[in-house]
Amino acid sequence: MSAPFRFSAEPLDLAALQRDLRDDSCGGFAAFEGWVRNHNEGHAVTRLEYEAFAELADKEGTRIVQAAIEKFGVTRAACVHRIGSLGIGDIAVWVGVSAVHRDEAFRACRFIIDEVKHRVPIWKKEHYVNGDSGWVNCERCAAPPAHDHEHAHHHEGGDRPQSAVWGRSPSPVPDYSRQVALREVGPAGQARLRAASVLVVGAGGLGVPVLQYLAGAGVGRLGIVDGDRLEPSNLHRQTWYALADCGREKAALAAGRVRALNPEVRVEAHALRLDAGNAEHLVQGFDLVLDCSDNFSTKFLLNDVALRTGKPVLFASVYQYEGQLQLVAGDASSPCLRCVWPEATRDGLIGNCAEAGVLGPVPGVFGSLQALEALKHLLGLPGLAANEMLIFDLVTLSTQRLRARRAPDCVAHARAAGPAVAAAEPEGLEARFGSLADAAAAGFTLIDVRDSQERIAEPMPGSLHLPMSKLLMQAPELDLEGRYLLVCATGRRSGAAADLLRSQGFRACRSLRGGLKALKSIA
Ligand SMILES: [Zn+2]
Repeated sequence: MSAPFRFSAEPLDLAALQRDLRDDSCGGFAAFEGWVRNHNEGHAVTRLEYEAFAELADKEGTRIVQAAIEKFGVTRAACVHRIGSLGIGDIAVWVGVSAVHRDEAFRACRFIIDEVKHRVPIWKKEHYVNGDSGWVNCERCAAPPAHDHEHAHHHEGGDRPQSAVWGRSPSPVPDYSRQVALREVGPAGQARLRAASVLVVGAGGLGVPVLQYLAGAGVGRLGIVDGDRLEPSNLHRQTWYALADCGREKAALAAGRVRALNPEVRVEAHALRLDAGNAEHLVQGFDLVLDCSDNFSTKFLLNDVALRTGKPVLFASVYQYEGQLQLVAGDASSPCLRCVWPEATRDGLIGNCAEAGVLGPVPGVFGSLQALEALKHLLGLPGLAANEMLIFDLVTLSTQRLRARRAPDCVAHARAAGPAVAAAEPEGLEARFGSLADAAAAGFTLIDVRDSQERIAEPMPGSLHLPMSKLLMQAPELDLEGRYLLVCATGRRSGAAADLLRSQGFRACRSLRGGLKALKSIA
């Protein structure tokens, strides 16, 4: 059987699709066809192009079809979405469901098309009779489902061009068209930004421009850590805030500004100072960390967390008219702050803004550079390498890119390597757990390798479904370092699957010993 959700660059073969879902136990079959029509919101449309962010779309689409199978108890279901260029009357999306009775077939079919429309990151470029064209699908479609209620969807009765949404809606919606127009961004890049998360440590002179630009760009989730309250002396460089806000916590103020600028961004404010006790926990769950702090203890703490967790941290430091940027990749071979500055481990060696003085635009320039490098990093564009430092003197306007070297005697690297090497040894192939909940609590993502029929007979909530037949065909799109627990009925297939995945580089995947049968014998 073919994948439950897939894209097709070719016109659909309806007979083959239907044949694939035929089952002798089924008395009902329901299908939905979405056609390309010749108009949209008063525009005459001549043809369409569909583009998908395949990495995310495949996963989300598969999740939707599987959820429909479980939710409605149907026998088989599939959804195929066209990509590429389509003419008027072409089938753009097809959903088919076969079930024992017609009612669940209808309902599952409706569920799948509605969810696909709202959740799968697919964009549509309409070409109009007058020669114009535009990407019209709503960027918010790819927002996670939990986020859906926070914004209105403008999809009932067909997708409308952004301009029409603007004219009709009582409040404007974020519009990323000026950056999506860049070839390096495009709809796929925008989806990448929306799927990304960035932790910003410090909401001051560097953090303000960083947060403004990341929120404006539509980075999906921002964390803000700052333990300070706003003071009048901050405002000459932290010009996002108001004089009347003085005395209030900066983390909360900045989060409020982010929400006002872009309500689509999920923002978390942490009104506390980063310390050894909370740093690792705060950094977890973010793709990238930006150090916008003004003190060495925070910078070196983040440096050490980067090495321990492997999470990249982009540092910016400003001193009077000069500043520098450095990306610490967090791996064993790239240099870190302590490789470059082995002595500068205490505050007070170089003054911060309070002691040394600074002109407002100086942190503004470096914060802007940091935001730019962060966006480039998230978009996969070339930028500051992990083995260099950018030094920018804003008096002479001279820039230097210096080679940063991995110091063989770096204490931070040595410390991170110590216990981490032992932990990085691959664990045994099989793992024992008392229940699937225990495995999830231990940080494993469950993968059901049984076939669809077994899965229907005995659902495994919260698991991904990657049947053995599919794993044998191609390597799955999973995180190489991810902790996956493969599960089947007896542990035999999952053991073979785990062995296979490890040979493909999925080092941390394991198999549930004894499978579901062993869990039942415990219960
Ligand atoms: Zn180092």
